[in-house]
Amino acid sequence: MSSKFSDTLLPATIAAQAGGLLDDGTGGVVPPIHPATTFVRDENYVPAVDGNVYSRSHAPNGRMAEGVLAKLEGAADAMVFPSGMAAVAAVFRTLPAGATALIQSQIYWGTTAWIRDFCTRRDITLIEVEAADTQAFAQACTTHKPALALIETPSNPWLRIVDITACADAVHGVGGLLVADMTTSTPVLTRGLAFGADIAMHSATKALNGHSDVLAGALAVADADSAIWKAIRLDRDTAGAVLGPFEAWLLLRGMRTLPLRVERMSQNAQKLAEYLSDHPAVETVLYPGLPTHTGHALACAQMKGGFGPLLSFVVKGGAPAALMAAGRLQLFHRATSLGGVESLVEHRHTIEPHTGIPEGLLRVSVGIEDAGDLIDDLAQALGQ
Ligand SMILES: *Cc1c(COP(=O)(O)O)cnc(C)c1O
Repeated sequence: MSSKFSDTLLPATIAAQAGGLLDDGTGGVVPPIHPATTFVRDENYVPAVDGNVYSRSHAPNGRMAEGVLAKLEGAADAMVFPSGMAAVAAVFRTLPAGATALIQSQIYWGTTAWIRDFCTRRDITLIEVEAADTQAFAQACTTHKPALALIETPSNPWLRIVDITACADAVHGVGGLLVADMTTSTPVLTRGLAFGADIAMHSATKALNGHSDVLAGALAVADADSAIWKAIRLDRDTAGAVLGPFEAWLLLRGMRTLPLRVERMSQNAQKLAEYLSDHPAVETVLYPGLPTHTGHALACAQMKGGFGPLLSFVVKGGAPAALMAAGRLQLFHRATSLGGVESLVEHRHTIEPHTGIPEGLLRVSVGIEDAGDLIDDLAQALGQ
C-alpha cells in the first residue's frame, strides 16, 4: 500500500485491512503468528531482520497491532500491554517519588484502587477531582501543579463526559501531561489525542478486541520523542509487561471489525437508553446519547457517530429490585467487563459498595445483538 494512499484512509478501511498487513512469506491475506522469542544475527553479528533480538523488546505481532492502533488513533506511535491495568501502571511508574498526580474521581474502580496504592507506596501526592467539572479540574491543576493527570470519558460506570481539550489546556498550563482513558469511547468515536491528550489509554480487553477473549491494554502517543514515551518503552522492555503473540494476533483480528461493532453497539445502546428512559420501573438512565444527560452537548462535540456501548440505569426499589431484574435477564450475561459483541449486565454496588454507587444501579454493556430482542429481555426482566 503506498504511503500517500494509506495516509488518507478512513478507520473502516484501516481496520478491515489491518492497515494493509499481509503474510509476506506466503501471500496470505492474514498475517502469521510469530511465536519466536529470540532472533538470529548475521555472520557479522548484526541482528538479521529489523533489529530483532529478543521478544521482550521485539514482538512482531505486538508491533502489527500497534501499527493499526496508531493509525486508528492518528497517533505517532502505540504500545500494547498484557492488560489495561499494565498500561496504566506503565504510565504511572514514570512518576518519580515525591511527584504530584491528579486523577478523575469515580472512574473505573480498578484504576483508582491501584493508583491510590501505588502513590502511597511511592510517596506521590495524589489528588482526586471530578474532571467532568472543568472548573474544578482547572482549579486543582493551578493549586497542585500535577506532573500527570488522568481522565476517563465517558467514565465507567457513571457515564460522565469530560472535556478533554479543557483538561489538556489546564494541565499543560502547569507543565503537566494528560492521559485519557478512552476505553469506553474507542478511537472510532473519539480520538483523544486530537482533542489534546498526550497519551490515549485503552483497556484493549474491551471494545478494541471486542470478543471477550483477550486481556490486553494499549497506549497511543502524540509525540513519540517525548521523555515519557521513552520512559514507558524502556519500562516495558526491561520490566517485561509484553503482550504475547497469540493475544496480539487476536487483538489485530478483533480490531478488523471495530468500526462496525462500535457503530452497532452505539445504535443498540441508544435504543435501549431511550426505551429505559420511558420505563416506569426505572428511576434514571445515564447515557450521553440522551438529550437529558448533563454531558450531552459536550458528548456531541467530542464523540462522532455514536455514544458507545456503556450505559447505566437505576432501578426503582434499590438493590433488591436491581438484583431481581438482573437475575431475570436471559440474554444479558451477568458478568463484568464491557465492549464485547455480547451484552453484559452488572450490579456495580455488589462490586464496589464503598464508592457511592447507587444501590439500584445496573451497568449494561450493549452488544451487537438485535436491539428488539434486547429490549424484549429488559421488558420481561423489569416487569411490563
Ligand atoms: C477494564 C478497564 C480498565 C482495566 O483494563 P484491564 O484490561 O481489565 O486491565 C481500565 N479502564 C477502564 C475504563 C476499563 O473499563
